[in-house]
Amino acid sequence: MHLSPHSLQQIDDAYLQSLDPEALRGLSLRLLADLKEAWDRLNQGPANSSRPPSSRAPWERKGGAPDAEADADAIAAVGDGAAKPDETTPAEAPPAEAPPARKPGKQPGAPGIGRTQIFAAQETQAHYPDRCAGCGAPLEPGAAVAYTGFQAVDVRWGDPARPGLTLWVVDHRYYEGHCRCGHVTRAVAGHGVVDPLLAGIELNEWRLVGPGLAALIVALALRLRLSRARIQEFLGDWLGLDLSIGTIHQTIHEASAAVAPVEDELIQAVLASDLLHADETPWPEHDQTLWLWVFRSLTVTLYYVAGRGKELLENVLDGFTGWLMSDGWASYRHYPHRLRCWAHLIRKARGLAQSLDREARAFGQHVLETLNALMAAVYAAREGPPSVDLPTQYAPQLAALRTACEAYQGSTHQKTHALAVELLNDWEAIFQVLSHPELPLTNNDAERALRHWVILRQLSSGTRTPVGSRVVALLASVIDTCRQRGHTPWRYLERAIADRRAGLPLAPLPQ
Ligand SMILES: [Zn+2]
Repeated sequence: MHLSPHSLQQIDDAYLQSLDPEALRGLSLRLLADLKEAWDRLNQGPANSSRPPSSRAPWERKGGAPDAEADADAIAAVGDGAAKPDETTPAEAPPAEAPPARKPGKQPGAPGIGRTQIFAAQETQAHYPDRCAGCGAPLEPGAAVAYTGFQAVDVRWGDPARPGLTLWVVDHRYYEGHCRCGHVTRAVAGHGVVDPLLAGIELNEWRLVGPGLAALIVALALRLRLSRARIQEFLGDWLGLDLSIGTIHQTIHEASAAVAPVEDELIQAVLASDLLHADETPWPEHDQTLWLWVFRSLTVTLYYVAGRGKELLENVLDGFTGWLMSDGWASYRHYPHRLRCWAHLIRKARGLAQSLDREARAFGQHVLETLNALMAAVYAAREGPPSVDLPTQYAPQLAALRTACEAYQGSTHQKTHALAVELLNDWEAIFQVLSHPELPLTNNDAERALRHWVILRQLSSGTRTPVGSRVVALLASVIDTCRQRGHTPWRYLERAIADRRAGLPLAPLPQ
């Protein structure tokens, strides 16, 4: 937007009459651009292209009606609840429908806690308007007058010679310039456009927490898995910085909004991969159990918190033609190019082989011996190609195993029956690796990626709202993808927050 409300208030009939034709044409162009942008915002909806594609969540069914209810939920969820009832959160939009009895966070109308900590700033940054928003004439900084300002606290990184972090305080001053035409133009803090699925989060330069400090807070919360209260304690004890829990919480949410556009890039990288590991683990969100999904290839790790149905897979993997390694969960079954993790099967077979039930013991032993022999053959084939391909070479063993499965699928021993059925149902995916011994035998890659977040889940009991879940999934994706590519996520995050607060596009992830 070219014209702020402050500028628009000053523009009236008399002012327009006073402008010369050239200035009037310039103003018309700016007004036209603003009007078009305003209309585009009014027309935003999941069904039209003026909104980013991510406005419909990947876990929603395709072709469904635009979900007004979900929007209302997202708005209601603004005061996300990793928040504790006693914390200060920013003013929130009221929910569209029957509000819950009492939301966590600051209650509307309750007195806020003003900031009392003021530092001696190391630096002052002046923000001047460079052109008159009315007539377009250039403005002289010298004649501008400061009209507002705020203090930001950031961290400065050292260099290899003097490593370390320094707390860096900046006084921001915003100036207004008086033009000869009579218009007063104010420099204003930048702001960014936020993904609709993160409704209620704002990206704004007017922030106490600078981009580097914001990245540090995200690192403490998600990489070191500290609670908001522990982060507050750490910043106070080690940096002498008093931040409210609400500010810490808001900072983490804003960081996630900053990197949200990265999702498209991550999905493209997932789709372009030859081999993808997928896995899922339970993730509580308020009173329901959802799943934390991970999709991990050689160069990308992408997380979602969603239901366990196949909608997410269908949406995210639409057009994927590589190999998909997964567990035996039914949602994966429709996918043609599939591999199964043998570690799970071997664990189950070993369990049966140690059973007191005679049938279970016999079947478990048979499965275990066959899988072990085949696994040794796969390892050997990786060293050098076998003279006869493995499916042909091991045809008798495979046939014998199949016969055993068919015999034992009627077993009254529950786990024996279950393993026999699982092997038969997923036969092709399980033994695909014999034709392609270079492919992996286990899903360890995905399971290792989830392990970090499983510990976070245990410490935090999951998330409280859809927005909170999306915040975790987005930041987790960025952190793990950067690390996987051998880059520290924190410098990228710092830059992403600074750029997006200023209304600039998000930089691509480090390659
Ligand atoms: Zn002017």
